[in-house]
Amino acid sequence: MELPFAESYRIKMVEPLRKSTREEREQWIKNARYNLFNLKSDQVFIDLLTDSGTGAMSDKQWSALMLGDESYAGARSYYNMKDAMRDILGFDYFLPAHQGRAAENVLYSTIVKEGDVLPGNSHFDTTKGHIEFRRALAPDCTIDEASDTQLELPFKGNMDPRKLDDVLKKYPKEKIPAVVLTVTNNTAGGQPVSMANIREVSALCKKYGVLLQIDSARFAENAYFIKTREAGYENKTIKEIVREMFSYADIMTMSAKKDAIVNMGGFVAFKSEELWRKCQMFCIMNEGYITYGGMSGRDMNALAQGLDEGTEFDYLETRIGQVAYLGKKLDEYSIPYQRPAGGHAIFVDATKVLPCVPKEEFIAQTLGVELYLEAGIRGVEIGAILADRDPVTRENRYPKLELLRLAIPRRTYTNNHIDVIAAALKNVYDRRESIKRGYVITCEFPIMRHFTVELEKA
Ligand SMILES: *Cc1c(COP(=O)(O)O)cnc(C)c1O
Repeated sequence: MELPFAESYRIKMVEPLRKSTREEREQWIKNARYNLFNLKSDQVFIDLLTDSGTGAMSDKQWSALMLGDESYAGARSYYNMKDAMRDILGFDYFLPAHQGRAAENVLYSTIVKEGDVLPGNSHFDTTKGHIEFRRALAPDCTIDEASDTQLELPFKGNMDPRKLDDVLKKYPKEKIPAVVLTVTNNTAGGQPVSMANIREVSALCKKYGVLLQIDSARFAENAYFIKTREAGYENKTIKEIVREMFSYADIMTMSAKKDAIVNMGGFVAFKSEELWRKCQMFCIMNEGYITYGGMSGRDMNALAQGLDEGTEFDYLETRIGQVAYLGKKLDEYSIPYQRPAGGHAIFVDATKVLPCVPKEEFIAQTLGVELYLEAGIRGVEIGAILADRDPVTRENRYPKLELLRLAIPRRTYTNNHIDVIAAALKNVYDRRESIKRGYVITCEFPIMRHFTVELEKA
């Protein structure tokens, strides 16, 4: 008999979770104005709001914390991080930042000016925000197939080289400070980018003389997909694949809260010493001195250790296997989600799960509230509330897809928790005909309303 799959670690420390009753949850979510962000974490049983900074550090990471050197300049921890940058990622120069968006801020403050163009494959929202805030453009060159939720493609996060070529042709290279390739493609559902695509994008960048920035939050998960799905990589180690991926990049920005498995941290890394020097000013102004940026010594130590663990095959197999396991459970219950299962999350197709709720009453948000009421599980709406209003007409924008994202934290929950998530969704799905009404907004901010929006039953 083939041995079943088991986690590649055992548990040394636990954090108790409290179950609640449906009556309690009804009161709590009402008090939270039906916005899942407003819940106290103690009111949540399984928290799938994000996989960012919510992972469990290892014993080695916790001991690395104790060895942190908090010297203002030239700390040992900085040099530990520098070694990891060179040995694991292949970058000689870097600046630490307190998280990914801060790294973007340091980089874009230096290289982006008004009227510039930074094409990419579904820019992450803070990345796009930093570009558009500087009155530059962020054209999306993702392959068209990415928006078909039911299409099974191995590398659904890819950049479309023809779309990219069109953009690169259209503008002079002085207007293109970088091409932004995001791995995995978060916005498209944690879908990977193939090595062939990275190579092709890099060749186009070289042809037009522009820099390639890899937005790398989930680079290790991407490498796992390359190893398991792309011909020619099956016998390479994750670390070899990672080195090849970054061999094509000029710049990497990183939210270490994802694949470096720390609770806080990030960095921007460079191949060019000159660009590194140019970016130092904004690092010092906004983050901190260049050998700590926005991080404490202990956190840099944990990050360096996390980069090493996060690029080990056994860990990634457990991690991505768990997301795939949730996908398989949903298949058993015929619950539709964005296919194939991504690296860090499952995106449930809310319109298909709740067919009776009108879009004006926020279908994915309604599903999020129902799942919370059912079992105390917190996901996050990726739908009309997030899409916000049209900046000119102020009308609600209704995106093509209403999704409930269930992001799986790293090394945090067991497959028993995954079984609870799937069963709870099935229960909601089974009573879908009885869920006819959603929610209406009673209070919202003019931008980024999803964090603070207040709702009531329609
Ligand atoms: C999370 C993320 C960021 C931003 O990082 P923070 O650490 O949240 O500031 C940027 N890009 C991608 C692809 C991300 O997933």
